[in-house]
Amino acid sequence: MENRTASALADGDVLEILEIQRDFFATGKTQELDFRRRLLLNLQKMLRENETALLDAVYKDLGKPYQESYLVELYPLYSEIKLALRNLGRWNAPKTVLTPLVLMPAVSRVYRKPMGNVLVFSTWNYPVQLSLLPLVSSIAAGNCTIIKLPENSSHTTALLCKLIDSYFDREYIAAVTDSFDTLHALRKGRFDLVFYTGGPLVAKIISKAAAEKLTPILLELGGKSPCIVDKTANLKLAAKRIVFGKALASGQTCVAPDYLFVDSQIKDKLIGYIKYYSEKFYTDKPHKNRYYPKIINSLHFERLRSYLDDGDIIIGGEVNEAENKISLTLMENIKKGSKLYTEEIFGPILPVFEYNNINTVIRFLSRRPTPLALYLFTTNRALRNKVISTLSFGNGCINDTVMQLANPHLPFGGIGLSGTGRYHGKSGFLSFSTECSIMHSPAHIDNGWLRYPPFNNDVSLMRILTRFFT
Ligand code: NAD
Repeated sequence: MENRTASALADGDVLEILEIQRDFFATGKTQELDFRRRLLLNLQKMLRENETALLDAVYKDLGKPYQESYLVELYPLYSEIKLALRNLGRWNAPKTVLTPLVLMPAVSRVYRKPMGNVLVFSTWNYPVQLSLLPLVSSIAAGNCTIIKLPENSSHTTALLCKLIDSYFDREYIAAVTDSFDTLHALRKGRFDLVFYTGGPLVAKIISKAAAEKLTPILLELGGKSPCIVDKTANLKLAAKRIVFGKALASGQTCVAPDYLFVDSQIKDKLIGYIKYYSEKFYTDKPHKNRYYPKIINSLHFERLRSYLDDGDIIIGGEVNEAENKISLTLMENIKKGSKLYTEEIFGPILPVFEYNNINTVIRFLSRRPTPLALYLFTTNRALRNKVISTLSFGNGCINDTVMQLANPHLPFGGIGLSGTGRYHGKSGFLSFSTECSIMHSPAHIDNGWLRYPPFNNDVSLMRILTRFFT
């Protein structure tokens, strides 16, 4: 189909865009590494030429100051693009594997192949990063991609739609915004991979639609990520990094510490430091600070505000309704039945629970759904090893929060309710591509004398070969 036809399509024509991309994929163009490199460089150019517009759109949607946005929205993209450009050839190269003696002189190779036509759903809390990071992996792996941008971050979504349309041809990369049409395309068309970032309710709808066609799916979800502060921890550092990880995007981060376990012996001291850093970073009125991010919309703002009645407030608790802002808030004595125990908070509220024996914490956590992340502050090696080996979680940090995301060499993802599959760096390339195993047999020798009929009942030679040559 003509290129003009692709660009003439409306945002909602997802099924038609998919068909056009399927035709484009069949041309084999995306198999060329130079083509993929050009697209990656074009994405880098798009970001560089529109940095301020992007930072401004994110500010309008989430009130993230430019510096924070640069750090969490743009920097990871630049670093991911650089890594992919540097390693594409190596990641994509066929790997020769061993061939058993009985199959010699054949040679066995594993080839990397793109999945084909990919559908990416992104969400609003890191609207640039979460839309474009999977795109880097998808381009690097040689796919055609449709990105379903989130509605909630409307300024960033409108800008990204415009930019993607003007920097890329819809024949291979298209941005769409209509949930209904995208779901329809997923049900009626044939995607080769679905990559979804968001909450568990929509994840189930998307997963069901994908399952109807047995389409492979990666889920990047969230959940309740615990943070533990042991009595041997460097408390000042712990407090500083907890404030950093929890106040980033006003707690609307999938890997933000969701609740805090603290040894009762050091609880007061830690809370004192947390108060100190909260004021140092955001003043004593964060809810009025123009550089403190806001809650995405009034629905989420009201949801979070209702939590403030579910226990005793130790720090914060102030709200700014006009700007959808809630101070970084620490709470304790959480009421029985509160959603703070069961739902991902996804906001700047941190319930605090004290413990006397770390084993009760480990027992408690081992019975909970697997969280996306876990953070442990300690200088006790044995405890660190015990937590890593006993508990299940997707990723995390020792003596830090959230920063695991800054390393593209660390595969990122959850387990079960917090997601399935991994991406970032090489793991993203691997998830967006597949292995194709080929045995190359020479045409001039036929050593397969044992495999051809006529067969009889004498297996003695086969037994010897099995014993000595496998
Ligand atoms: P959301 O409502 O923005 O939905 C995610 C995507 O699905 C959006 O593109 C949305 O437009 C689309 N969508 C929604 N309903 C749909 C439908 N019926 N049919 C088709 N598409 C539909 O996302 P959310 O749930 O508000 O996101 C917040 C959640 O995402 C939190 O749980 C958070 O932890 C998680 N999250 C995870 C990661 C990660 O990388 N693991 C990152 C950010 C957020």
